[in-house]
Amino acid sequence: MPESKSIKPQQPSGGWVSAHNAMNQKQYLSSILDETLQTFRMLAEKGSRGFDCSEHCLSVLKSWTRKPDETRQTTTDAYQPPAVLQLSPAKVPETPLSAVQALSESAEVSEPTPADPLESVVSDMGDCRRCKLSKTRTHIVFGAGNPSAPLLFVGEAPGFDEDQQGMPFVGKAGQLLSRIIQAINLTRDQVYICNVIKCRPPGNRNPEPDEILACSPFLSRQIASIQPEFICALGTFAVQTLLKTTQPISRLRGQFHDYNGIRLLPTFHPSYLLRNPDKKREVWEDMKLLMNEMAP
Ligand code: URA
Repeated sequence: MPESKSIKPQQPSGGWVSAHNAMNQKQYLSSILDETLQTFRMLAEKGSRGFDCSEHCLSVLKSWTRKPDETRQTTTDAYQPPAVLQLSPAKVPETPLSAVQALSESAEVSEPTPADPLESVVSDMGDCRRCKLSKTRTHIVFGAGNPSAPLLFVGEAPGFDEDQQGMPFVGKAGQLLSRIIQAINLTRDQVYICNVIKCRPPGNRNPEPDEILACSPFLSRQIASIQPEFICALGTFAVQTLLKTTQPISRLRGQFHDYNGIRLLPTFHPSYLLRNPDKKREVWEDMKLLMNEMAP
């Protein structure tokens, strides 16, 4: 591309752009146009259906940006990306795959008790000691929100703040999730929010297969009790656990899947968005899909 100085039409003293410079300018504009078209063609070949450049989109994405007092990175939200995003392909299957395989073989998980009230699920969970996380947790983080919500968000696992308060998504990622919920014209009280596993893994490490397996019956019963019309699976662990798949979130997001007759939309985890702000645009596309389908 020519340097910017070569495109500036130089004004001769008479104030008229010379024919020569006018031609340079025309060539330059045409080269910009060519490059733009090439870029659009390349994006279309990669499956892009375009960009939402509306003022509403821009203001939503802006509202998902941290406020100045939120820029400090604390240990409270030291999110570690799930194994699928973090490891080389050869190592990927280790953690999620074995949990997914075990889940597929588990009769208890594939046939959840229908419509237990949430209180029964909480009471059956009791002071759970079914996995090693019980030794390090402060609180079990069961979930929060409207117990008959039409929309359920499922995250990965409680972090530091959640463990301290016994509430899901109350740290930095939670603040972003609240803004995402606001952008689809809902409040946290109108939806239900929970996690795949109910106790914090030490140091916010990834959940391990035995932990996912121990908690899965409770997640299944929780979902059966809430009976949401829609589930938004936040991140790799939520979508892979619920759909019993090892496919990466990047391939699964952007479309609805079926979870026991419930329409499930995977999207990126808010913690992942905090580290990869350019992915917010894709999440907004997912949220628009969700809003369209939820509209009466
Ligand atoms: N990340 C999660 O997946 N869940 C929470 O509750 C908080 C952070």
